[in-house]
Amino acid sequence: MHSSRAPSILIAGAGHCGGRTVQALREYGFAGRIDLVGDEPGLPYERPPLSKDALTGERTHASLDLMDAEALQALDVQRHLARVTAIDTQAHTATLSNGTALAYTSLLFANGGAARPLPISGAQLPGVLSLRNKADALVLAPYLAQGKRIAIIGGGFIGLEVAASARKKGCEVSLVEGAPQLMGRAVPKLLADRAQALHVARGVDLHLGVSPLHIAQTPTGLSVALSNGITLQADAVLVGIGIIPGTDVAQAAGIAVARGILVNRQLQTNVPNVYAAGDVAEFPSHISGALLRQETWQNAESQARVAAQNLMGGAVEFAASSWFWSDQYDYQLQVSGEPAAGVHTVVREQEDGDVLVFYTDAAHRIVGACGWGLSSRIAKDLKLARTLVERGASASPELLADPATRLKALLK
Ligand SMILES: Cc1cc2nc3c(=O)[nH]c(=O)nc-3n(C[C@H](O)[C@H](O)[C@H](O)COP(=O)(O)OP(=O)(O)OC[C@H]3O[C@@H](n4cnc5c(N)ncnc54)[C@H](O)[C@@H]3O)c2cc1C
Repeated sequence: MHSSRAPSILIAGAGHCGGRTVQALREYGFAGRIDLVGDEPGLPYERPPLSKDALTGERTHASLDLMDAEALQALDVQRHLARVTAIDTQAHTATLSNGTALAYTSLLFANGGAARPLPISGAQLPGVLSLRNKADALVLAPYLAQGKRIAIIGGGFIGLEVAASARKKGCEVSLVEGAPQLMGRAVPKLLADRAQALHVARGVDLHLGVSPLHIAQTPTGLSVALSNGITLQADAVLVGIGIIPGTDVAQAAGIAVARGILVNRQLQTNVPNVYAAGDVAEFPSHISGALLRQETWQNAESQARVAAQNLMGGAVEFAASSWFWSDQYDYQLQVSGEPAAGVHTVVREQEDGDVLVFYTDAAHRIVGACGWGLSSRIAKDLKLARTLVERGASASPELLADPATRLKALLK
């Protein structure tokens, strides 16, 4: 029986959530062995700056690390530079890509996902890049220079953030998005339209409702043929079309997966001592019960803390309100809570041209909010909107829509 073994926790994935889980395990007093397995060299780190100030060179890669080498050592972790390639849920063992076999009493999948490849010819050519990790950012960064031409495939957060970073560095930027609006269904059209107008005003050559057909090498770089008949010329093509969550090892071990590794509110899979957290986990919302998979910094942070407690034998439920942001130029977008769980949508046009959108349930409880505006100007209101969601505050649509209503007053 595994319960008679000395407790030993194995974490598959040494990224953001894996790193935070190790810290939380020791913080909560776990004294057993921890194996942290991940294929990226270096220390666990946070990724958001990779498309923003760490891409433009305003921030160093080292500053992204969750901890320094000394701090990791102090956590007394067995760090394996490898991938978990298989687990045996009966024997409680994991096999690593370097041939090592490890025993565990409980295991966490915190292995995120891989950049989704572009399924067209030419996508394998040198200069066709993606952005998921530090190594990818090091390949992309030299293209962000005055006069270089970057073609971006995908008008989601990463594509748009790279577009903004590339314009800041003086690149000529084209961006191709298959849908008629930017940022998909994650944000309302009203906000997507504002972002679109900003990118156009900052000189991005935008192609909406258009798909890339094929990429070819030319004497001077790459060409991207588009479905609207236009051919883009570029020095590099950045593909930002989402990730494929790393469900394969779990699935092969008989663990239930759908759009991610399926977990319950305790982040536990259908195999009791196996958990999943972060980008790879598909979990039930504490608001609506809907199954969610979130690719956000805050989700990695807060699920790590819940996973740590449950890996140690706890039964803590994950009920953190979700939240994410995106920085584009000097503007910021934020989405809090679960907009899809709302039945009413209330738009609040601020006097300065920024905008907030609230989502309320049938009882006017605020279940979601989002906003877009000049970062320095809207920051305070975005934070208040997030707090309103977290507290499940209620307000009438009239009050919420009125820019004269102080959001702070609604907290009471
Ligand atoms: C460029 C970029 C910008 C972002 N910007 C924002 C932002 O502005 N706001 C926001 O909220 N979120 C942002 N995010 C999302 C956020 O970074 C992720 O949600 C977060 O990193 C998820 O953490 P994770 O630990 O689940 O996955 P990861 O941090 O990806 O870590 C997973 C690790 O597991 C490793 N791995 C994979 N397979 C295996 C295996 N079989 N065995 C062992 N290890 C394995 C991977 O190599 C990786 O190191 C951004 C992400 C990127 C890439």
